[in-house]
Amino acid sequence: MGPKDSDCIFCKIVEGDIPCAKVCESETCLAFLDIAPVNAGHVLVLPKGHYPTLMDIPKELGGDLVETLSRVGKAVMEVTGAEGLNLIQNNFEVAGQLVHHAHFHLIPRFSDDGLMLWPQTPYENQDEMSRIAADIAKLLK
Ligand code: 5GP
Ligand code: ZN
Repeated sequence: MGPKDSDCIFCKIVEGDIPCAKVCESETCLAFLDIAPVNAGHVLVLPKGHYPTLMDIPKELGGDLVETLSRVGKAVMEVTGAEGLNLIQNNFEVAGQLVHHAHFHLIPRFSDDGLMLWPQTPYENQDEMSRIAADIAKLLK
């Protein structure tokens, strides 16, 4: 099942020590309703093991996680009648991560829900864009 952190609220949910509105479970993943949904039907999908951020999740869990996200996302859309679905994943506090056990938000979306994602601006020049891409690519070699 992977590592545990006895102070972690999601580990307590995985262990069954804190109740949750569970929607599905596999050997490595758990999915349940977010207690404070953006829209009703907002689900959290997480590895059962305690991995603090996305970057800590072992790649072996990737297949099960993606399959769970896809299956749960489809069911959430069907049940809520959503016209769209956001998959959101926050890492570290500055990015809005409140619970330090990696998790994925599946949020059903409606044309009239009034929600806005963050604003975007184009790069000021092509050189800056090329340089950042090259720097990232270099680390990935
Ligand atoms: P984060 O901000 O870390 O990406 O998201 C944490 C999410 O966990 C929040 O949306 C919050 O509402 C949800 N949450 C926090 N505590 C609990 C809990 O005890 N039970 C459930 N079901 N959700 C929780
Ligand atoms: Zn945990």
